[in-house]
Amino acid sequence: MILVFNWKMNPEKLSDAEAILDFLRFAQDKLKKTCTETQSVEVWFAPPNLYFEPLRKKYNEFFDFGLQNTFYEQSGAFTGEISPKMAKNIGGEFVILGHSERKKLGESLEDINKKVLASLEVGLRVILCFGENVKLKSRENIIFEIKSQLKILLQDVPINSENLYLAYEPAWAISSQEIGPSSTEELKTFLDWYWQNYKFPIFYGGSVDSSNIENYLTLKLNGFLIGSASLKPEEITKILNIASK
Ligand code: PEP
Repeated sequence: MILVFNWKMNPEKLSDAEAILDFLRFAQDKLKKTCTETQSVEVWFAPPNLYFEPLRKKYNEFFDFGLQNTFYEQSGAFTGEISPKMAKNIGGEFVILGHSERKKLGESLEDINKKVLASLEVGLRVILCFGENVKLKSRENIIFEIKSQLKILLQDVPINSENLYLAYEPAWAISSQEIGPSSTEELKTFLDWYWQNYKFPIFYGGSVDSSNIENYLTLKLNGFLIGSASLKPEEITKILNIASK
């Protein structure tokens, strides 16, 4: 199981980021980068891009580090953007693309698709987010919406891409008090449909924390994308302990 912690635009200082990772490193003395006999979870962190390099240098032995976004061109005059090639060259292992918070800022599905292709091209692992923006009542409506999103997001992506992970994140469930699909039963039905149609490993995200992660552990998920809870070291420790049982 893979736990991806997305720090979004936090914390305010690099030293606060280091304090979280130091806490985890020492609290989890068995923490290794990959699953071992004593640990069945992998821990990936997506810090703000600005902190990426110092954190990777210091904690590379314990965690995988990735970026929260990359652009769809590999070089050129694109002020403020970071290319997938640059991310890869600096040691980036993965990138989160198409997060709903970026879509709210205007990122289109077509642009996200181009970003996915460009990141896969350089060998970055891609966590591609998708999910309905508003609460939809019927399962048919959810599936219709998801199918049309994935059609655009996955255009020209080889179906055997080994580095692609999907993250189902209903936008309304992110950092909200509302728990994901209102029951895990609904999520289970969604996942049954998903596995009949797609083969990419899939994560779930939407206010997952130590109080609810257990509910999801019996579902056919390969991991979780976790935002708000990822800034609280004690909370991360609890999540790790529950997930690695
Ligand atoms: C996320 O940032 O992808 C996320 C799922 O956030 P949260 O856990 O806060 O809902």
